[in-house]
Amino acid sequence: MKITRIRIERREIELDPPFLAAWDPNPRRSFEATLVVVETDEGVTGIGSGDTMDGFERYEDLFVGYDPLEIERHAAVLETIAFHAGRYWPLEAALWDLAGKAEGKPVAQLLGGGKDRVPAYASTGDRRGPDERAESALALREEGFKALKIRIDRTHVDTGVAAVTAVREAVGNTMGIMVDLNQGWRMPGDLSPALDRDAVRAVAERLRDLDVVWFEEPLPREDVEGYAALRAEVGIRVAGGEMARTTAELEAFEAADALDVYQPDAVLSVGLLRAREIALRVLQKGRWFTPHTWTNGIGLLANLHVTAGVGGGPYIEFPYDPPAWTPERRDFMLAEPLRVDADGCLTVPVSPGLGFELPDAPL
Ligand SMILES: [Mg+2]
Repeated sequence: MKITRIRIERREIELDPPFLAAWDPNPRRSFEATLVVVETDEGVTGIGSGDTMDGFERYEDLFVGYDPLEIERHAAVLETIAFHAGRYWPLEAALWDLAGKAEGKPVAQLLGGGKDRVPAYASTGDRRGPDERAESALALREEGFKALKIRIDRTHVDTGVAAVTAVREAVGNTMGIMVDLNQGWRMPGDLSPALDRDAVRAVAERLRDLDVVWFEEPLPREDVEGYAALRAEVGIRVAGGEMARTTAELEAFEAADALDVYQPDAVLSVGLLRAREIALRVLQKGRWFTPHTWTNGIGLLANLHVTAGVGGGPYIEFPYDPPAWTPERRDFMLAEPLRVDADGCLTVPVSPGLGFELPDAPL
């Protein structure tokens, strides 16, 4: 079997009301999904998604004519391109979708077949006051979720901790609470300073006392030493690595034993194969593998298959913050949005490949 063509197709929906209105003076008014469609001479196709694939067209020739099942080779080429240009990991997701369809198996089975369902945590996005967030936590619990994640704005830390406190008071010990400070996303171009180690440590101590499951991206991602010190000294689980650009970045965290929870996103960070390799290593050391999944339903599925395949977890991120962020919006490109069951778990699809249907054939 040979790859004959790789097509990029963009789909978009309008968001009314917009999303992330509280964070952004220019909130998101539309949501775009890029589909990567790999075609072969045998008529089997694979579809991936999760990143923009901008500029990929000039690299298509590096894959056309090759056997799509040589995924080790393709992942190495994608790593090389990621050094020089963009991250085109949705293509690897499409290749796994294709491989699963060619072999009549779900991708999770090709990756180890460790689990058939994974508990999902509701990953909220919007900044809300304590009362409103507590109310949303109770609604999530009603839907079956056993855990939720709350983002804290580093410029409004007290409000953020107040929201976590209100949620803890509302749900007692019936739900796990994760907290994300998003400081791993700090860029050289960010002109305002990040919260420094001392300030972060004070937040971590307050969160530890609120029995938070993990504290995510507390510090800029280069500060591996700071991560290691924080988890060792405060005694709170620390999570990170969602947007690591190379496996070496994650290996640096491993070498310093700086994370309890490794989160490389299979369609944004290092691809499915590399994420799987990292997951196997860290799980063996008793650490957790719960990837970032904040893209769309196809990206979420790619990460679910990796997590389930290696028997990882104990959770999978489920981006969900109604009414602004719903499965219908997140998965608008799918015939059927992904939903959790009454126990708050995501079931791994049993159909071949990544296991989704589009409402219509790709163009
Ligand atoms: Mg995060």
